[in-house]
Amino acid sequence: MVTSLNEDNESVTVEWIENGDTKGKEIDLESIFALNPDVAPDEEISPSPETPPPPTPACVKINKIAKVSVGVLPYVTTNLGTGGVGHWEQVFGLFNLILLIRARVPVKHSDLLRRKSNCVKEVEKLQEKRERRRLQQQELREKRAQEVDTTIPNYEIMYMIRDFRASLDYRPLTTADLIEEHRICVCVRKRPLNKKELSMKDLDVITIPSKDVVMVHEPKQKVDLTRYLENQTFRFDYAFDDSTTNEMVYRFTARPLVETIFERGMATCFAYGQTGSGKTHTMGGDFSGKNQDCSKGIYALAARDVFLMLKKPNYKKLDLQVYATFFEIYSGKVFDLLNRKAKLRVLEDGKQQVQVVGLQEKEVKCTEDVLKLIEVGNSCRTSGQTSANAHSSRSHAVFQIILRRKGKMHGKFSLIDLAGNERGADTSSADRQTRLEGAEINKSLLALKECIRALGRNKPHTPFRASKLTQVLRDSFIGENSRTCMIATISPGMTSCENTLNTLRYANRVKELTVDPNQVMEGGRPNIHTVNQLDLLDEEWLSMSPQRDDLKLLCEQNEEEVSPQLFTFHEAVSQLVEMEEQVLEDHRAVFQSIRWLEDEKVLLEMTEEVDYDVESYATQLEQILDQKIEILTELRDKVKSFRSALQEEEQASKQINPKRPRAL
Ligand code: ADP
Ligand code: MG
Repeated sequence: MVTSLNEDNESVTVEWIENGDTKGKEIDLESIFALNPDVAPDEEISPSPETPPPPTPACVKINKIAKVSVGVLPYVTTNLGTGGVGHWEQVFGLFNLILLIRARVPVKHSDLLRRKSNCVKEVEKLQEKRERRRLQQQELREKRAQEVDTTIPNYEIMYMIRDFRASLDYRPLTTADLIEEHRICVCVRKRPLNKKELSMKDLDVITIPSKDVVMVHEPKQKVDLTRYLENQTFRFDYAFDDSTTNEMVYRFTARPLVETIFERGMATCFAYGQTGSGKTHTMGGDFSGKNQDCSKGIYALAARDVFLMLKKPNYKKLDLQVYATFFEIYSGKVFDLLNRKAKLRVLEDGKQQVQVVGLQEKEVKCTEDVLKLIEVGNSCRTSGQTSANAHSSRSHAVFQIILRRKGKMHGKFSLIDLAGNERGADTSSADRQTRLEGAEINKSLLALKECIRALGRNKPHTPFRASKLTQVLRDSFIGENSRTCMIATISPGMTSCENTLNTLRYANRVKELTVDPNQVMEGGRPNIHTVNQLDLLDEEWLSMSPQRDDLKLLCEQNEEEVSPQLFTFHEAVSQLVEMEEQVLEDHRAVFQSIRWLEDEKVLLEMTEEVDYDVESYATQLEQILDQKIEILTELRDKVKSFRSALQEEEQASKQINPKRPRAL
């Protein structure tokens, strides 16, 4: 058994049991590799000019270990920098396993002798090789020093990343990989560097070595100004590298959910990430250049499969109709993209059923029908906008495919292109519109995370009312038969590093709880805390508005991101939005009540008569005016409080430390 790795002299300590006693000794790595050639690293350097520059000594060690522990490679390599002990154990675990397996192979005594002498020779050969390599490396280093491309802003970092990648063993996802059944599936998609990034000579700091691992090489600087990489590893259900097509992403993410809606379930699929990271490309299709092609987006691919499934005998006999809706949520308001952006109201009935009043559901008979609707919706979405991204970064787009049987809902698939997640910092902006937008996005993405988590844990209460997005999607987060998938899209560039890390952390938290509940219990301080808070909250429950209640719950669940000041701000915003709705509704009611004018008209007409009843006229007029004054006073009071809510929001926004909130 290998019990420890000694980095200083590149050796391992091994222990074994001999006649019932535990014995141990130190063996250098080279000998281990000589004895176990298949776990030994490949040549680390070749004399070709294409080779990366000489690795630092630490790198050499990493490379060796990486090769030994092929299977868990990402953990090994990345956690060296941060010193994660747990992962070292994992590495040793595998290392032990490999050595143990070899130890179990029965060997004859004579074989052993021969092997031993072979081994001595091997070691000598290795030493020679090592010497040769050292010389080669020296030469290469000198040569490199002369020809380093200093026009690349971060050439040192670039070489470090190259070195690191050279040590990896790539096993990307293939179509042969199993499509797993997940209730909640969280995956990551990296896009290629774009023209702008290439022209800026931005570096690609993302590596996807295997089908479920994403690594971020974050450049850091020590106190003495030497630069180094901090490699962080994340694991998801799937990781798609920059060569993956939409079809392939679809195959592992949304496609398995198509069946769900035929089986009377609810499905949701979200694209989450920074603006420009590829959400729309993934969901809607390729819109770059002039030839817009939405047939390759997940919306269209899902629709295609819905129509295919419909033909299967099992489902054909159900006689289902297919409908589609397409709407946008901007600053907590819903707009119908299939009906010239009509503003829609979201209402909740007594049974907590949420309705988007007046949302157009268009019947679709084939994939082409769907493509047409997507085009209509897209052009409606961005019309009058200077840039498609400027607008879409601030709003969520929801495309739904609805199956109905004799008019009754059978299943629903919601595909959502979320607003850019980089807007957190806007909450302290001087411009109210920007602040409200930012707050709403911030809140809705937090709420979304909690709703998905709740889905995974069958939690009784979900703070779905905290945002319009989660309120509208509520029916998709409840019920046995609901499934969801999140595609976190990331930009590869170094300039996006911080946003990328935020995206990955968010995506990780969405799933973390459902992956390993035990882990959560151990390190899960915030959750236990939240449960208590929730109990305490119950008393106030009825006296407050449900929206604010859910907001409170949401902020408590995300204490680390939501400071008390930010919570106050969010409260002010929520109050403001609620009041705005009320004031508008009342105003509209007053404005529209023609009866008022009618009554007065009749009254005035009466006075035209020669002998009209003066007394009756005066009484009636007084009645009408009293009524009007009462209603108008009420409206005026509401407007007054609305105005003070506006001021409160402004005050609260100033209390937020500019550093907080962190982008999600
Ligand atoms: P977002 O919707 O997240 O703001 P977009 O989907 O609009 O980002 O992508 C930004 C740009 O990057 C677009 O020009 C798009 O065509 C391009 N792009 C995104 N993902 C990919 C990809 N996987 N392959 C090639 N180009 C991509
Ligand atoms: Mg977009």
